[in-house]
Amino acid sequence: MRQRRTLYSPQGSEIILDGEHVTSFCSNDYLGLAGHPDVVQAFHAGLDNFGAGSGASHLVSGHSAPHHALEEELAAFTGRSRALVFSSGYMANVGVITTLLGKDDAVVEDRLNHASLLDGGLFSGAAFKRYAHLDNEALAGVLEKITGKRKLVISDGVFSMDGDMANLPGLAATVSAHDGLLMIDDAHGFGVLGDNGGGTVAYWQQQGHILDEENLQVLVGTFGKAFGSSGAFVAGSEELIETLIQFCRPYIYTTAMPPAQAEAIRTSLRLVQKDRWRREYLAQMISRFRTNCEELGLTLLPSMTPIQAIVLGDVDLALEASEQLFEDGLFVSAIRPPTVPAGTARLRVTFSAIHTEDQFLKLLDGMVKVAHLYHSREQAS
Ligand SMILES: *Cc1c(COP(=O)(O)O)cnc(C)c1O
Repeated sequence: MRQRRTLYSPQGSEIILDGEHVTSFCSNDYLGLAGHPDVVQAFHAGLDNFGAGSGASHLVSGHSAPHHALEEELAAFTGRSRALVFSSGYMANVGVITTLLGKDDAVVEDRLNHASLLDGGLFSGAAFKRYAHLDNEALAGVLEKITGKRKLVISDGVFSMDGDMANLPGLAATVSAHDGLLMIDDAHGFGVLGDNGGGTVAYWQQQGHILDEENLQVLVGTFGKAFGSSGAFVAGSEELIETLIQFCRPYIYTTAMPPAQAEAIRTSLRLVQKDRWRREYLAQMISRFRTNCEELGLTLLPSMTPIQAIVLGDVDLALEASEQLFEDGLFVSAIRPPTVPAGTARLRVTFSAIHTEDQFLKLLDGMVKVAHLYHSREQAS
């Protein structure tokens, strides 16, 4: 049985969890914006100006000036014609997929896609296919056999449990060669990758690749990770966004997020673009951590993002390692099947730009103990 632990402090690098003070390497607040004074201040000002709630859905009377401004800023940020704000990433993904696809269509997904993308594919009633993780040839093989009217290929930008990145230029080329549409959910890439925080798309564009509305038709981002808030957006063509406004049920039949929250997210968006040091600092921590773990003989999955997975294999070992770290005042979660494939139970460390040098060194000490545990178990078996 999975259990929930209760947080008695704000999200941050030092938290109070179930009454214990621990250093957390376990949140998705990659840039440390959830507690940023400017973001909190913008939320306060938004409350003063717009009240606590939106009062209605977007199509009735809940679409306010802050939502609208945020959408325009997101369109500019992503280089898309338009953007649409949703109350959560789960709803955005389910909403887009079920709006674009019906039973005569096909959806093709990377095997390790986020649950919301898999659910959206299943709920749509379209023929559902998966391809081996990051395997472009396997994808091409699947696409060749499909006869459906519309083919939507979907991938995470950065994979949430492994931290690795999709090869967007390769995906885009394969998908357009088969007359498909490409959708990328970059929940973990936005804010973290690319010089201006533009995510996986920006990362590849900086290497000279073109990834626009023509070859990457649906781009999804969320506000619950690097933006330090919650909610999500879909960016794309005028036609895509207008279709969603008219037909997307998870957009239409739900209360708009509080306008004050949209104000806070607008401030996050400015900080995401402006504070490059947060990405640079993260990149340094990540590379030091990887070097250290490799020296300790631990198995890391390939990842240049703040998500670092240390594969221990055995479920009990992963749980024991996580418990031992917790006793030493470090919160690092154990991730186990069915969230990840059998035999790949792991520790999942996530870094944030607010981690201090001391906190980082404490984690490295903890990893020395994990390595001992891992190697002693290896010898025993
Ligand atoms: C977190 C996440 C989501 C869900 O977003 P919420 O706003 O938390 O509902 C969707 N896709 C991916 C890849 C995610 O990591």
